[in-house]
Amino acid sequence: MVRNNNKLKYDVIVIGAGHAGCEAALAAARGNSKTLLVSINMDTTELMPYGNEMGGAGQDLLIKEIDVMGGEILKNIKNNYINIRVDNKWIDYSVKTTKVLVDGRRYLLLMKKVLENQNNLDLRQGLIVDICKDGYLYNLKTSDGITYSAYCVVVCTGTFLGGKIFWGEYELEAGRQGEICSRRLLESLKDYGFEFKRVRNYVAPLVDSKTINKGSLERQLFKEENGSFLSGNDLKVKRQMHSYKTYINKNFVDYLLKNEDKIKSPGEHGNKYEDESISIESVILRNKNRGRKEVFINPMGRNTTEVYLQGLETALHEELQTGMLKKLDGFEDIEITRPGYGIEYSILSPLQLKSDLQAKNMEGIYFAGLINGTRGYEESAAQGMVAGMNASRKSKGLKSIYFKKEDSCTGMLIDSIVSGNNSRGLYRLNPGLEEYMTYKRKDINSKIL
Ligand SMILES: Cc1cc2nc3c(=O)[nH]c(=O)nc-3n(C[C@H](O)[C@H](O)[C@H](O)COP(=O)(O)OP(=O)(O)OC[C@H]3O[C@@H](n4cnc5c(N)ncnc54)[C@H](O)[C@@H]3O)c2cc1C
Repeated sequence: MVRNNNKLKYDVIVIGAGHAGCEAALAAARGNSKTLLVSINMDTTELMPYGNEMGGAGQDLLIKEIDVMGGEILKNIKNNYINIRVDNKWIDYSVKTTKVLVDGRRYLLLMKKVLENQNNLDLRQGLIVDICKDGYLYNLKTSDGITYSAYCVVVCTGTFLGGKIFWGEYELEAGRQGEICSRRLLESLKDYGFEFKRVRNYVAPLVDSKTINKGSLERQLFKEENGSFLSGNDLKVKRQMHSYKTYINKNFVDYLLKNEDKIKSPGEHGNKYEDESISIESVILRNKNRGRKEVFINPMGRNTTEVYLQGLETALHEELQTGMLKKLDGFEDIEITRPGYGIEYSILSPLQLKSDLQAKNMEGIYFAGLINGTRGYEESAAQGMVAGMNASRKSKGLKSIYFKKEDSCTGMLIDSIVSGNNSRGLYRLNPGLEEYMTYKRKDINSKIL
């Protein structure tokens, strides 16, 4: 192979171009470190593989903080939001937060453009299969035989480590639907003593909005004047797309109860795992739930007719998914374009990281994003910023920057990860957070809206 070896040597290598990896790579490159971002598929940089909602309680503070630290998230939202909503159903009704839906495809393309034009940053498509320490350097091998070296590595591999997807009686090794998983890297990290645990999540189906009778659905109001995350006029008014709402009804519940014997219980799908979220079939079968549960019908973008059915996360066989959907008002002629599915993967067990997101047992290796057991694009992006920034500093022999939980939501998030208090919602991370955010938010609430 004719290659100049220096071209393969970096200060920082980021593995994975999801929400964490993209912000990590930009932070490292902008910190003047020669950086490589390597990812399995360069057409899925910062993909929103599931819902496309951002903001809301806690997450809106993170968006603002990432922006202040020089990250891309808010700039991208400004360019690509498709509707803005005000949410006041959190803690107490006087506290309002901003939520947006973004156009996932345009969001991805804009981030790719930013990455491609960033100084000090190289992009490579490749599957990292092995990490090997060699003195001060880490050698990272790809599945096609290339070795890259760096002083620091940021691991941002999301749902891909040992990823397996399942629906009905089917299962497949995959990082997400349609993408290969990352099995050998998991083994390589385990060889260095890292401990992981298995978790499970559920994805809702995407359907063709042309097959929904919107006349019988509730329209979600969107904000008609400029909006913002916390202050200013971040989100200038433009043409917005409507989200809709429908409700789980008696027919829907009866259909699932009637088909109970065909529904595989989550435990039948293999390894021991922890539930990160609950599928709709589990909710109904466990509780025989007949309450009015909401289903949000969210457009995925301006150039597609696909909509995401938030609230109907499921791993049922596709025929059962279609059957249950047809019981909903307005969904009598529904056509699924991508069935929902369950996903099981390995995340890092807590307490193995320091507050700069560096591994306690291996200097120079950082972890950020969903691999640390968090949820949400914003949480991944915030961790990516912190890990990328600190990896860059480390590669130059500088001290880490620490974010305190008393001072920032980013600090609060990191504290919850490294102290093992992590949970699904940011506002559930820490007993003090509700109080902290209520105080902060009341303080600034008048300036938001
Ligand atoms: C089922 C489910 C539903 C969710 N729904 C929502 C939601 O509605 N809203 C929300 O905000 N968040 C949601 N989340 C969380 C959200 O998906 C994550 O927070 C976010 O996508 C994680 O970003 P990340 O960068 O950590 O990882 P990912 O976005 O998963 O990116 C990981 C990247 O790493 C790459 N990669 C993996 N292994 C390797 C390797 N060995 N070599 C090279 N590259 C590699 C992959 O190709 C990918 O690009 C959901 C998560 C799950 C699992």
